[in-house]
Amino acid sequence: MPFSALGIIDHLRKALAEEGYNSPTPIQKEAIPVILEGNDLLACAQTGTGKTAAFALPVLQRLHQSRMHGEKRKIRCLVLTPTRELAIQIGESFTAYGRHTGLINTVIFGGVNQNPQTARLVRGVDILVATPGRLLDLIGQGHLHLRDIEYFVLDEADRMLDMGFIHDIRRVLAVLPKKRQSLFFSATMPPEIIKLSAAILHNPKEVMV
Ligand code: AMP
Repeated sequence: MPFSALGIIDHLRKALAEEGYNSPTPIQKEAIPVILEGNDLLACAQTGTGKTAAFALPVLQRLHQSRMHGEKRKIRCLVLTPTRELAIQIGESFTAYGRHTGLINTVIFGGVNQNPQTARLVRGVDILVATPGRLLDLIGQGHLHLRDIEYFVLDEADRMLDMGFIHDIRRVLAVLPKKRQSLFFSATMPPEIIKLSAAILHNPKEVMV
């Protein structure tokens, strides 16, 4: 099955061809149409299944199709992820898949000087990939706000809880717009994850691979 059968636009298909992706993985086949239709998503998927493209492609597509030309960039998509390594990887994926869309992403994480990160925020980004602690620091200092978020992705939710990020996640949720599309990814679905997902998602479609 080609990506075109999922409704993926030319700008993204060109980048996928350049990446050498010929056809969607199972999670991509299931999740992409659900996200393009505007649904919240509860996805049970491990790393290595192609889950990053499963959320990045439809989010890039929807942001690209609704971008007002000439309008100042604002942060319309937030991806929360537990570690610096994952954040960097996700940012690289958005850059690769989105290279023909004109959309800009940046990545923020702790343990390094924040100035280069805040400088990129000042120049304007459409998509922000972040670890929770640094995100809350920068919000607290007034370097960014989340009032314009339309797409919220929680990646590796079970690892987030294992790493003790539950309070940080709840603080982020408290400042997100109520009207948004939320995508929730976890490798496992223990009761506390189901409970967290219920606090984030609205009538979600479920995808298990
Ligand atoms: P992820 O599960 O998102 O970490 O992705 C695992 C690996 O699969 C990454 O190296 C991706 O570049 C690669 N990948 C994702 N989707 C596809 C696809 N449709 N075809 C080929 N490789 C892919």
